[in-house]
Amino acid sequence: MAWECSDCGRKEQGESKITVCHHCGRPVCNLHRVMVPDDAFNSSPGQIVTNFAIHCPGCWSAFHPQAANVESGAPGAGGWTTA
Ligand SMILES: [Zn+2]
Ligand SMILES: [Zn+2]
Ligand SMILES: [Zn+2]
Repeated sequence: MAWECSDCGRKEQGESKITVCHHCGRPVCNLHRVMVPDDAFNSSPGQIVTNFAIHCPGCWSAFHPQAANVESGAPGAGGWTTA
């Protein structure tokens, strides 16, 4: 079964791996995935572990607006925009 990016439609092939967003499960290619440290993975409160989770652009701005703003360098700009 060949995955394809839900954003650009590119199929998984060779080094272009498709991964799934950890919030909505949408497949995204390596160009459209966003790695964000997500503390939802932290199991014990006293232990700070930074785990990077894969996000689609939509969930990146929806669930991690602060990270999205930092990345884009435009605070309050509304995050990701798609054409
Ligand atoms: Zn893509
Ligand atoms: Zn998502
Ligand atoms: Zn997340």
